[in-house]
Amino acid sequence: MNPSLLPGQPHFAYRGDQLFAEDVCLGELARTYGTPLFVYSKAAMLSALAAYQRGFAGRKVQICYAMKANSSLAVLQVFARAGCGFDIVSGGELQRVLAAGGDAAKIIFSGVGKTREEMQQALMAGIGCFNVESEAELEVLSEVATRCGATAAVSIRVNPNVDPKTHPYISTGLKGNKFGVAHERALQAYQRAAALPGLRVAGIDCHIGSQITEERPYLDAMDRILDLVDSIEAAGIPIGHIDFGGGLGIDYNGDTPPQADALWAHLLARLDARGYGARELMIEPGRSLVGNAGVCLTEVLYLKPGEQKNFCVIDAAMNDLPRPAMYQAFHQIVPLERRAGPASIVDVVGPVCESGDWIGRDRALNVRSGDLLAVLSAGAYCMSMASNYNTRGRAAEMLIDGAAARLVRRRETAKDQMSGEILLE
Ligand SMILES: *Cc1c(COP(=O)(O)O)cnc(C)c1O
Repeated sequence: MNPSLLPGQPHFAYRGDQLFAEDVCLGELARTYGTPLFVYSKAAMLSALAAYQRGFAGRKVQICYAMKANSSLAVLQVFARAGCGFDIVSGGELQRVLAAGGDAAKIIFSGVGKTREEMQQALMAGIGCFNVESEAELEVLSEVATRCGATAAVSIRVNPNVDPKTHPYISTGLKGNKFGVAHERALQAYQRAAALPGLRVAGIDCHIGSQITEERPYLDAMDRILDLVDSIEAAGIPIGHIDFGGGLGIDYNGDTPPQADALWAHLLARLDARGYGARELMIEPGRSLVGNAGVCLTEVLYLKPGEQKNFCVIDAAMNDLPRPAMYQAFHQIVPLERRAGPASIVDVVGPVCESGDWIGRDRALNVRSGDLLAVLSAGAYCMSMASNYNTRGRAAEMLIDGAAARLVRRRETAKDQMSGEILLE
């Protein structure tokens, strides 16, 4: 009855009753390395990337992995070796890309609040482009670049005011959002950028939100951006590249986002129709490259029957998997070893002292204490958002490549957590 493949995650499947990632039995991994444990499939990452590469075949494109989705060094190495650039949002992320062997010239720096220090670091490293989010930032960046004797390549992030139809916390392209320069002010901002001494206008960009499951918002944003390119170039400012951001959704629970190759076939047809098909293009996918390439393994600590709810207390928590607490997000939860027998309805919760610390509500599971579970679709915005709340060490991480399993982050200890602190005399 149960399909052996997990929805949206073809690199994770049951063989008999045991859940595997590629050719590795996850139950064995959990017993060897302990839990909570993040496990990523390299093949899943590369096949997600390949869908974009197919979609853009024959085009001038730079795919910049939006690394805030998962910034672990081994993940960055996989994408760097596959030729990706990176979309970064902080000086810390810059250092991670460089540590992972990424090419600085393929880095674009996004974010509404870059500090002078971060701008300087990025200029010194020789990054490809700054995605500037306000007119005030243009002034500061020009000043910093001039002081460093450098010229900063810029693209202005335009807010196209389209509704991505996603959760309000992850929609970024509407008028009420803090992101980007309003569409109406964009031309003026470009004129300012072109006049500033430390800047060179390189392109234009937009990013309308995350977990987008429809094609329509992308088409609308593309039209709005191309209208702007027309008017900016008519004002005598050439736009080198067009960056369409990231945001493509994944299947968490029967979601049906377009596939990256199909989506881009349609978008590129529109681009061609409007005469922009030969431009240099950029995209900034995050979640869609890693989200369904990772799972989080966890152990059932206690079953706690109650009058209104039955709880299944696991050893992973909101500090490891923050999306349910932050966005009421849904992650599927499945056993590492399937067992026959009736399921009961439980709320799957973590040990953290917050009622918001739930991972899944009203799930049908047939589990006992000591059982191992996998929280699915945990490759994006989980480890990179993990915290030490309750002085919980961050989980270990493993990368699977065929039958090989490699530990790529050891479990964080309490000593690690305290290492930067200074006791009173
Ligand atoms: C977060 C972000 C992305 C990636 O979004 P996903 O939904 O993970 O694809 C791309 N560009 C910018 C500017 C971002 O902030």
